[in-house]
Amino acid sequence: MHGLMMDTPLLISTIAEHAEKFHGDREIVSVTMDDPRHRYTMRESVKRARKLANALGRLGLDRGDRIATIAWNDYRHLEIYYAVSGAGHVCHTINPRLFPEQLIFIINHAEDRWIFTDLMFVPLLEKLLPHIPNVEGFVVLTDERNMPETSLPNAVCYETLLAAESEAYEWPQFDERTASALCYTSGTTGDPKGVLYDHRSTVLHAYASVAPDVLGLASTDVVLPVVPLFHVNAWGLPYSALMTGAKIVFPGPKMGDGEALFELIESENVTLAAGVPTVWMALLQYCRANDKIMKSLKKTVIGGAAVPRSMIEEFRDVHDVQAGQGWGMTETSPIGAVNTLKSGLEGLSDDEKLDLATKAGRGVYGCELRIVDDQGSELPWDGVAYGALQVRGPWVCSDYFKLEGAAGAHTNDGWFDTGDVATIDPQGYMAITDRTKDVIKSGGEWISSIELENTAMGHPGVAEAGVIGVAHPKWTERPLLVVVKAEGHDVSKDELLTFFKGKVADWWIPTDVAFVDELPHTATGKIKKIELREQFADYAFPE
Ligand code: ADP
Repeated sequence: MHGLMMDTPLLISTIAEHAEKFHGDREIVSVTMDDPRHRYTMRESVKRARKLANALGRLGLDRGDRIATIAWNDYRHLEIYYAVSGAGHVCHTINPRLFPEQLIFIINHAEDRWIFTDLMFVPLLEKLLPHIPNVEGFVVLTDERNMPETSLPNAVCYETLLAAESEAYEWPQFDERTASALCYTSGTTGDPKGVLYDHRSTVLHAYASVAPDVLGLASTDVVLPVVPLFHVNAWGLPYSALMTGAKIVFPGPKMGDGEALFELIESENVTLAAGVPTVWMALLQYCRANDKIMKSLKKTVIGGAAVPRSMIEEFRDVHDVQAGQGWGMTETSPIGAVNTLKSGLEGLSDDEKLDLATKAGRGVYGCELRIVDDQGSELPWDGVAYGALQVRGPWVCSDYFKLEGAAGAHTNDGWFDTGDVATIDPQGYMAITDRTKDVIKSGGEWISSIELENTAMGHPGVAEAGVIGVAHPKWTERPLLVVVKAEGHDVSKDELLTFFKGKVADWWIPTDVAFVDELPHTATGKIKKIELREQFADYAFPE
């Protein structure tokens, strides 16, 4: 027997309608390529999204067509999010930091019909043009005054496109399982793979993310998404912020600029900021060097890579900011686990709380977690056993776009294999030890490169640390610690190795240290282990 409740579809456009009615006056502030501080309201934003939806129809775009964006975090990008998905098209966000070959691959694979681009990426697209013959036109995210001369065919200025349209538009109603957005994984191995979100998964993910133990978003919050709109929908913040009426502050092209981020946080009274560890390194470094304290910020959510203990500690003890770690992937929309203190653990000492905070987090309701061994048998939640992390839920991908099972990432019993290796403790806190392909195997036992990196980062002389496994005649592999020294510190190899004593098992302590000027990073700011391993391919441990 079915229940007797209404079956209204969970559509992204309903979030826009809700924001317009209940949070119409709430501000959206942006740094853009053509305006250092643009501000308007949610009402204005949704009105412009409706104009854009009309414009998309006039361009001849049909339901399900992919429309791409190559753009920073700002209000125009947000309007595209709502207009494209709301009208039934698919918003394909492209990471501009990908290699040209990857950009060409994903634009062609997605069959993008039009591309919306920030001014800065016009020259890049002009270079790609001969290789992306199926793109019909380009919209440049600027006004007539700043419109560049370009060889891009059918190049239209965004503001001119909008100016011609009526703000009257009825959001269409359709099945909530309709595709809404497309994001490709960075493709650290092989070609990038497309994750195709739908309206239902997006709305459910937004509902889950606003809960107090997840992002804890309220209408009184001011949120700074430093995580890009071009990567996993900025962790769903464009949806959760409009759902709750939290003011949004978009940093535009200023994502990695510590000073600019500090200024934005202080002047706009930001309460919650979200991003990967590398951006917070820049912000904390700026604050340290200039004796600045963040006054309004209450919470940061940090994810996408392991968060160093020292970073959580500095946020807490210097700025009185609660730094919550999160775990997720492009394939999980992305929020899968978030680390907040559970009832019953309030009595832990400050130090124990820090230890706990270095774990990735507890599974969020809606994303089930399990760890399995090589045979696929489930492992115990004892905080010690480690195995392949698998997840399942309504905002986890069931396949990759146009690959139909070929990626082999799903198990026969319907779980997604994340490619991460993890432990889960009796309280349900999951900790990532490595990505499967980064695991170091020494004398038949695994060593967690993430834990070693984390420990090294706790030394004041270390700006950034990466650990890789290097071939060893006796132990098969041993860890090599690669370090970028912090400015003004001349830390030695012996000092660093001694620093590990008592913090990790003796046999985990890296066999050697190499100092470098910088570490290679992926397009999303993580240490690029593949390149690091290539860089040290000829390295041999001292006798
Ligand atoms: P890619 O790195 O391929 O672009 P994603 O951006 O989707 O893919 O990154 C997902 C991966 O990032 C996870 O599989 C995991 O390895 C890593 N990751 C995310 N959050 C954390 C975390 N809190 N701790 C450690 N690793 C994390």
